[in-house]
Amino acid sequence: MSGAAPISARLGLMLTELRMPTIKRVAADLCRQSDGEGWPGQRLLEALFEHELAERETRRIDRHRAEANLSPDKRLSNFDFSAVPSVSKAQVMALAEGHEWLDGGANVLLFGPPGVGKSHLVSGLCHALIESGRRVYFARCSDLVQKLQAARRDLRLPQEMARLDRFDLLVLDDLSYVRRDQAETSVLFELIAERYERKSLAITANTPFSQWNEVFVEPAMTVAAVDRLVHHSTILEMNVESYRRRAAHAASPGKPKKD
Ligand code: ADP
Ligand code: MG
Repeated sequence: MSGAAPISARLGLMLTELRMPTIKRVAADLCRQSDGEGWPGQRLLEALFEHELAERETRRIDRHRAEANLSPDKRLSNFDFSAVPSVSKAQVMALAEGHEWLDGGANVLLFGPPGVGKSHLVSGLCHALIESGRRVYFARCSDLVQKLQAARRDLRLPQEMARLDRFDLLVLDDLSYVRRDQAETSVLFELIAERYERKSLAITANTPFSQWNEVFVEPAMTVAAVDRLVHHSTILEMNVESYRRRAAHAASPGKPKKD
């Protein structure tokens, strides 16, 4: 604890009224320092507001992290890029650091068999974007489709779409797992069309475009969806052996590898 005299009750009340909890917390210390070192008034004000702004930013990022639905431990820092030579680390880092693609509503599409790190990589990208102030939401595609279908039944689809619009990036993880009967209502197509050239999507899939007919009601809709998705997109092909399986094999190299 500091030995500084506490701030006056009146100042405390005003800072509460103004919702400036950080200034309220640091004011006594900073005022003492300012008095002791003879700071000009402006310097004290700047120091106080800097603290308030920095903590607001931290709280904002914490809120964005909490709403994003991400696995906390799937980050770019623990993604082993050497396991996926077809994916350039520099390209992924550029997506994480430069946000022009988000401003233009461009997409990221990740393809590859199960276990190659698609979800991990996209989750790592999301963490990095959140740290730099963006809002993202990570959804299992079939869960989201189910939710949108329910919203349509309740005549709440526009509201639900508007809720998703707050996110600069929406992840649809495992698009190929959307079930045939879920495709009937075409909400997924509407979501893609709605975000086209405005808000970004990141999609993971273990089947190539040619098999997406399973996911949409009719071939024309598949073509239209694919068209919009690839128009402005980065495609990451991850056709390697499952990371898990390789890791298991490395741990017990005596055992024969099998699927
Ligand atoms: P996919 O989404 O392609 O099915 P996941 O992202 O779920 O694969 O990866 C499967 C598991 O292997 C996860 O626990 C993930 O963290 C790990 N993993 C996969 N690829 C890598 C990688 N290149 N570096 C570190 N961990 C990886
Ligand atoms: Mg996955």
